[in-house]
Amino acid sequence: MATCKWCRKGGIFIRVDRYGLCNNCSDAILIEVNSRVKVIQESKDIINSSKKLDTVLSRLDTIVMHAQELRKYEDAANMQSKETSLTQDIAPGTWNKVDLILAPVKASEFNYLSINIEEDEIQLLN
Ligand SMILES: [Zn+2]
Repeated sequence: MATCKWCRKGGIFIRVDRYGLCNNCSDAILIEVNSRVKVIQESKDIINSSKKLDTVLSRLDTIVMHAQELRKYEDAANMQSKETSLTQDIAPGTWNKVDLILAPVKASEFNYLSINIEEDEIQLLN
């Protein structure tokens, strides 16, 4: 089962690319990244050709702003994820205790935990 690194949608019908992104996220992110990179490159060209300090400073601000927006994708790309399956019978009508040990992980490195329940067999009780 694949899970998209960006939208966190997962399941047997979700396919992810080599970056761990589903089709929807991959298309949207590619458009945004290309647009921001283009603005950064244009700003760099303007800085290199301009003799006005205000223009240079303004374009530097533009580059910083777009670079900060791109940072979220870098953070997502660096995020480590792990899927595990805890197969067990679930007792009906009661709390079901599951022990899950996250190791080795530091509290500062831990982002979130997502839990899905997928059933491939349901038994009727007598
Ligand atoms: Zn996605």
